[in-house]
Amino acid sequence: MDGCNREALARRVISTCLAMETRGINQGNAGNVSVRFGDGFLITPSGMDYARLRADDIVQVDLDGQSHDRLQPSSEWRMHRDIYTHYPAAGAVLHAHSTFATALSCLRLDIPAFHYMVAVAGGDRIRCADYALFGSQELSDNMLAALEDRRACLLGTHGMICYHDDLDRVLRLGVEIEALAKQYHFACQGGQPVLLDTQQMRAVLDRFADYGKQSGGADED
Ligand SMILES: [Zn+2]
Repeated sequence: MDGCNREALARRVISTCLAMETRGINQGNAGNVSVRFGDGFLITPSGMDYARLRADDIVQVDLDGQSHDRLQPSSEWRMHRDIYTHYPAAGAVLHAHSTFATALSCLRLDIPAFHYMVAVAGGDRIRCADYALFGSQELSDNMLAALEDRRACLLGTHGMICYHDDLDRVLRLGVEIEALAKQYHFACQGGQPVLLDTQQMRAVLDRFADYGKQSGGADED
């Protein structure tokens, strides 16, 4: 694990940002990525084009919100900080304004159990957090409420956020959340999707837990 090498980890943050673009879950440079490091985390800087990022542009932030680097951290550093503080297992965080997740967030819709893969977020629905101003502590507080017992949530009239053990897994989860948002959107065009019930989703979550023991993750593949 290259977790002890700041420069190597910063390069992986950048490659994850670039992968967000190629995987179609980024809009401009609105999204941001971080990875746990030392007593805090490394995060993308505020307002810089991902394609021009260099390793020493990535900002280190302590869990008390202090940063001593040259650039300002992403304006959404509070959401990242609060995930690392509240979820000790969180190793990486991804925030995006991906099109379909954002569209559902503007409708203030949760993603219910219309498909069993909703369980990748850790429960039987992916909640949508109440709206608050970007970068505010209120937004982060709303996010924490929507994230309870989950790895992902939508952010009202804003986008989505998720966390996982590491950068590879958080990217895969972000791509999956956007795919679910897209599928739910299209399913709703044909009527009211049939939702899986609590027992059916419990069975999926149990199966994912078994997969997780084998593969180190809860993904189906
Ligand atoms: Zn945002």
